Amino acid sequence: SMFNSRRISALFAPRLTDGVVKLDIRTQDAQTNTVLTTYHLQSPLEGTRMGCVQAALQFAEPAELPTDPFLILQNKYPALRALRTDADIGDGMWICYHCRHENILRHWKGPFPFKYLRCDRCDRQLSHTCHSSEVLTPWPFGMISAPAPPLGHEVRYCHVCTQCGLSHRAEMVGTTLDFYGVTCAGCGSSSYGDWPRYYIGSVEPYRRDPD
Ligand SMILES: [Zn+2]
Ligand SMILES: [Zn+2]
Repeated sequence: SMFNSRRISALFAPRLTDGVVKLDIRTQDAQTNTVLTTYHLQSPLEGTRMGCVQAALQFAEPAELPTDPFLILQNKYPALRALRTDADIGDGMWICYHCRHENILRHWKGPFPFKYLRCDRCDRQLSHTCHSSEVLTPWPFGMISAPAPPLGHEVRYCHVCTQCGLSHRAEMVGTTLDFYGVTCAGCGSSSYGDWPRYYIGSVEPYRRDPD
């Protein structure tokens, strides 16, 4: 994860010199991750901002191990959705509150842990009223303290832009979570701590029992 974070930082780095965007990259911990913290637009070049995000999304690597083939054989994955490969199964699902569509979740390394969380059927973004499996466990607004991730591991908390649905990995200093003052890397809107928050839980319960 350490190398992945650095690679993403490097992807953004060339932009630092051309004065189009300014990135504020902060070291979370001397030993562990370099975390992309804030993202400021200095001129409204939509194409450039989207280019940066698209690159980060395109080169993101899966954060979880693939589903054990033994589990696929053992489980009666719903035939309707024909979940037969790791790519089909993913790391969990969320059910759209508006249209009831079951959307597959995949946890990615880097600053955008679930990429865009928009419904495949109706295109609305995930909200707190949508049900989701353990990998995306709703996290109460009042909780700002949590165990620090093990050395070399990424923070397992995230929040989701209410305007465009892009998921952002949370910042953490010591055992304190910081969800405030983030500018969405996808659409430029600001979070005042009001985006829905989630704990990135285990993929195991879902993979053992995908219903
Ligand atoms: Zn929907
Ligand atoms: Zn956004």
